[in-house]
Amino acid sequence: MAELPARARVVIIGGGAVGTSSLYHLARAGWTDCVLLEKNELTSGSTWHAAGNVPTFSTSWSLMNMQRYSTELYRGLAEEVGYPMNYHVTGSLRLGHTKERMREFERAKGMGRYQGMDIEIVGADEIRRRYPFLETHDLEGALYDPNDGDIDPAQLTQALAKGARDMGAKIVRFCPAEVGKMFGRQVPIMVMSHQYILFEEIPELAAWSREVGHKLPLLRDVDTSWYLRQEKNGMNLGPYEKNCRAHWATPDDPMPEDFSFQLFPDDLDRLEWYLNDATERVPILGTAGLSKMINGPIPYAPDGNPLIGPMPGVPNAFEACVFTFGISQAGGAGKVLSEWVTEGRTEWDMWSCDPRRFTAFASDPAYCVAKGKEVYANEYVIQFPRRVWPEGRNRKLSAIHDRIAALGAQFGTANGWERALWYAKPGDDTSAEAALTFSRSGLWEKRVREECLAVRDAAGILDLPGFSRYRLAGEGAREWLSKQITGIVPKPGRIGLGYFADDKGRIVTEMSIMALEEDLFFLITAASAELHDFEWLQRNLPQDSGITLENRTEEFSCQILSGPNARKILAEVTDADLSLPWLTHQSAKIAGRWCQLVRVSFAGELGWEIHTKVEDTPAVFDAVWQAGRKHGPKPVGMYALDSLRLEKGYRAWKQDLSTDYTVLQGGLERFVKWEKPDFRGKAALAAEKQQGVTKRFVTLVVENPGDCDAPYMATLWHGGRIVGETLSGGFGHRVDKSIALGMLRADLSEAGTEIEVEIFGDRFKAVVQKEEPLWDPNNERLRA
Ligand SMILES: Cc1cc2nc3c(=O)[nH]c(=O)nc-3n(C[C@H](O)[C@H](O)[C@H](O)COP(=O)(O)OP(=O)(O)OC[C@H]3O[C@@H](n4cnc5c(N)ncnc54)[C@H](O)[C@@H]3O)c2cc1C
Repeated sequence: MAELPARARVVIIGGGAVGTSSLYHLARAGWTDCVLLEKNELTSGSTWHAAGNVPTFSTSWSLMNMQRYSTELYRGLAEEVGYPMNYHVTGSLRLGHTKERMREFERAKGMGRYQGMDIEIVGADEIRRRYPFLETHDLEGALYDPNDGDIDPAQLTQALAKGARDMGAKIVRFCPAEVGKMFGRQVPIMVMSHQYILFEEIPELAAWSREVGHKLPLLRDVDTSWYLRQEKNGMNLGPYEKNCRAHWATPDDPMPEDFSFQLFPDDLDRLEWYLNDATERVPILGTAGLSKMINGPIPYAPDGNPLIGPMPGVPNAFEACVFTFGISQAGGAGKVLSEWVTEGRTEWDMWSCDPRRFTAFASDPAYCVAKGKEVYANEYVIQFPRRVWPEGRNRKLSAIHDRIAALGAQFGTANGWERALWYAKPGDDTSAEAALTFSRSGLWEKRVREECLAVRDAAGILDLPGFSRYRLAGEGAREWLSKQITGIVPKPGRIGLGYFADDKGRIVTEMSIMALEEDLFFLITAASAELHDFEWLQRNLPQDSGITLENRTEEFSCQILSGPNARKILAEVTDADLSLPWLTHQSAKIAGRWCQLVRVSFAGELGWEIHTKVEDTPAVFDAVWQAGRKHGPKPVGMYALDSLRLEKGYRAWKQDLSTDYTVLQGGLERFVKWEKPDFRGKAALAAEKQQGVTKRFVTLVVENPGDCDAPYMATLWHGGRIVGETLSGGFGHRVDKSIALGMLRADLSEAGTEIEVEIFGDRFKAVVQKEEPLWDPNNERLRA
């Protein structure tokens, strides 16, 4: 073991591809007095045996960004650091068996093109031209990614290590550190066994390669779940099999103290089906002898994405771990991690990988194993927007779960909470398969429409457990809060939206601020935001200020009652003052239980949120539901709420609101109180305003869009160029229009401008709307 320095600005634990990339990026940012501790040799964990595929493909904007960055870094790395390595940029073909798969490819192509990559969709002839050994008769087409390839993972790690060392960073090998004990943190992780098979040389392939002078593109048959790569003149086949196997998850298979440079025993039986399928697709594989198998540990988080960012609950500690595709993501991950460490924020919004997206429930090993196996077995499936995954369910139930289930609720989850997505009627097809479509006309749409129209014409009740909720109190709380948000802190008895910007003026989060007294507030935010937003507040709260901040999420629940009959319904069950205006709140009693009636509506109708103690929720719900009967309320789910909020232009957390945009770009200037002496982000926003905002949030109406609405990150076009992107899309049933919320070049953001939006490869006319809600532009129904 080399000598351990007495001090270091940053200590990184673990010397795989990701740890060394983090060290390299920190050093590049000028933080050279950092040290990496590795308990064995560099690469001894998962890195040494990785297949080394380096795709850019993803249907997640941020993951694609990270992977694209990796490919750009790897191309120049060997020369930059003076460490030669094998990196073959061969391109890849991803085969599509179905029309829905081709839609997914079109979407990825659109995103890739926006990131500057020449991803192509190709037909059978072009597939065969690029890959002459392939059976194509049953294919719809393929996606060709010219940037894909393979790298030697050990050489990559050594190159990054060399680059970091040359800049002054230190690496100490054979130096174990007790990470878990040090931080008291249970990381949401499980371990799968993943295998690939190496085949001996195939003479036909060798001859072809010699003739054309390059390797075959990497092949992924995603609809049957395997990848196949030319390895010298043989092949490397790696399936993600349905009959997959977790490791180190049961008492009879404990995680060993040390697994450096080790593998699991081969398990060919599990791969047989995939081997046959690959041989049918690429018949020359059938002529090849099997030379070796590699069966190694591969970590999974419950959603399959890595953890990169602040460690929940531990100041000055960061995670970059649980990488399932750690070779292709190491470059980008190092960049992201070093930004978190050195600047406390990242260039790109990286919520998809933020460790705080998992709250305590997700650390339960049984949950992690169930979800990890599910993700692994479905690694390549199409990510349909309304697909609901069955594993790891019923972790957090609303106090009225049984009641809404009896009403037909079809559930999905948010931060572990089961929430009704839509309500089925007897005879409706509620099978999981029915949701495997990008089409709007899924089975739920008829019911969603009925729910939306009920909210418009009578009333809807939506059970919303799990709103994150913090109590902020103490002398000076108001003054402090005012410095944290761009706008006005509401007076006692009022509620308002507060936007929190970072020092660059970018949107960190939005919270509802309910002022109970001059210096007493409840801050309410999205269920998924629970740890993220709490930590943002906590981090910025001065110590010894006397202001207290408590996370009170689990004590309360919420029902949303919305629609023109909402007042009549409440009048039957409470003697609260129902004439109090929009954006007020009051304590009241329903069925003899305390509740807080909050006069707001995310659905954009006359309405109240009824906040209750969890234990009182059933009694309150029963009273409202029974009383409401004659006024025609319907149970309403999250799909309807999403459609209703689009018609009002209300933003969704981490979809429309993210650090990818500033508060001014986000069209939120009406929530900026310039006269305030100071607030976080003010200087940056003032400078941006003076220079002119370059892109703006807009509401678009898409004309005749066929059967699909715009997905997240669909590109916007004008004059043959990409001029922006969508953030949310969906159908507004009250206005009977396909709506998209998006970001558009500022000079095109005037109402009436016609542009195009690309939806799964087809372009449709879209018209920029006025800067007001499509539904009830003057908020008269809300104020009724
Ligand atoms: C068969 C197989 C094929 C794969 N193919 C690919 C692929 O083609 N492309 C791809 O992108 N990914 C692939 N992967 C996944 C890839 O291997 C991992 O995602 C990646 O190696 C993770 O890198 P890492 O640096 O996060 O972790 P690791 O490589 O596991 O590094 C962690 C390091 O930390 C050290 N360490 C652990 N605990 C301590 C401690 N307490 N103190 C000090 N040091 C410690 C370990 O010794 C280890 O060196 C594959 C995985 C398998 C199993």
